Amino acid sequence: MITFEPTEEQRMMRDTVADFVKSKLRPRVREVEAARALPDDLREGLVELGLGGLATPEAHGGAGVSARTAVLVEEELGFGDAGAAYAIPGPGHLAHALVELADEAQRARFFTPFASDATRVGALAWSEARPCRERPGFSTVARRDGDAWVLSGKKSYVLGAGRASTYVVFAQVDEAAGWDGIGAFVVDAGAAGLRAGARYDTVGLDAAAFGELTLDDVRVADADRLLGGESFRLATLRMFARQSLVAAARAVGVGRAAFELARAFADERKAFGKPIGHFQSIAFLLADRLMDVDGARGLVWRAAWTLDTEAERATKKAGGPLEVVARCAEAFAEASEVALRCGEDGIQIHGGAGYVRDVLAEKFFRDARQLALLAPSATTSDQLFAALALGAPLDASTVLPTPEIQPIFT
Ligand SMILES: Cc1cc2nc3c(=O)[nH]c(=O)nc-3n(C[C@H](O)[C@H](O)[C@H](O)COP(=O)(O)OP(=O)(O)OC[C@H]3O[C@@H](n4cnc5c(N)ncnc54)[C@H](O)[C@@H]3O)c2cc1C
Repeated sequence: MITFEPTEEQRMMRDTVADFVKSKLRPRVREVEAARALPDDLREGLVELGLGGLATPEAHGGAGVSARTAVLVEEELGFGDAGAAYAIPGPGHLAHALVELADEAQRARFFTPFASDATRVGALAWSEARPCRERPGFSTVARRDGDAWVLSGKKSYVLGAGRASTYVVFAQVDEAAGWDGIGAFVVDAGAAGLRAGARYDTVGLDAAAFGELTLDDVRVADADRLLGGESFRLATLRMFARQSLVAAARAVGVGRAAFELARAFADERKAFGKPIGHFQSIAFLLADRLMDVDGARGLVWRAAWTLDTEAERATKKAGGPLEVVARCAEAFAEASEVALRCGEDGIQIHGGAGYVRDVLAEKFFRDARQLALLAPSATTSDQLFAALALGAPLDASTVLPTPEIQPIFT
């Protein structure tokens, strides 16, 4: 049975977060932006609502909410301030890596410190601004040394770099095997040889910090390597699927925020004696963007439902483990484009007011712009969904957000 009706518990969680956003977060968006961080009281308020542990399983001290509940809440956070959403302490992207790539003992070990310290931050280091020129794969390498690995290289655009206590770092473990020779390691921020560089000066998502991570012969025990169960590549894809589902829900929130602001302006601003929203060229823009937001939300909810129900449907007719990957890629590809369209039209509808910082229209556009670049980016998600939908072969360049641009459908 298909139902779009939230349960009582889901409604309560969503409304609680929406109230917090409306009364506490939104009025201080510009302050957060100027500080480029969450002020202490806002951060504590968001942590108290349990929002740092949404992706952490209940058994490991997290909120243990379903993906359907999570996307309802994430949309509200995106509506409030997507940058603030990415600045809430907690395991963050690390949680998705542990859920998909770690074994049970590793999960227990690495989630435990987050359960007892709500200020702790986790991060994931995948991207590299300087790709390897000599061979396919990461330029960051992990070389075996006895019962440990030694990691060297530089990772880029790491959300939470410098703030995180624990990182999952992806590196090349077999240099001859290209993208099939990559591995993942849990690295403590205090490890000798690990350095976080200065944060980037980004155009949006101001409360969140992105930076570089340098690894100079960092030793990591073999027990801290995440193997990803039966298929490392599938587990990595599913990790990115979970990450992009969160981003998709936040993008729907950004799109809705830009739409609502533009709609209110179009009601209020008059030209030739009537609200500008009564002119078809504005009304059609607004209606199209509303259809966009509603449609993207539907894809996000379906992806969340696919994730929540895949185990119970495994014995019936279900699409296998790649179904979740396809649905999340589809949801993110669409939601991120919708957020961008809403952001851009929001500025257009505001006229000159859309381009000055007194009005939030320009902020929503900047946040949407940056969300579409998150790993896996909107273009990578498009390509992944196209491959899955059209049955193209899934080679590494098609399915992984790679640090080098590779031919499509090789
Ligand atoms: C908000 C935000 C948060 C981020 N968080 C993190 C993080 O926590 N950890 C982390 O490691 N990185 C993070 N990133 C970086 C992000 O993963 C990369 O920017 C993204 O994967 C694109 O990689 P690139 O910048 O190296 O671009 P390039 O790889 O140089 O790509 C350039 C363009 O080509 C496209 N492209 C590249 N490869 C493919 C492919 N295989 N299929 C289709 N298109 C492709 C890209 O999408 C992009 O449009 C974040 C970025 C942003 C903006």
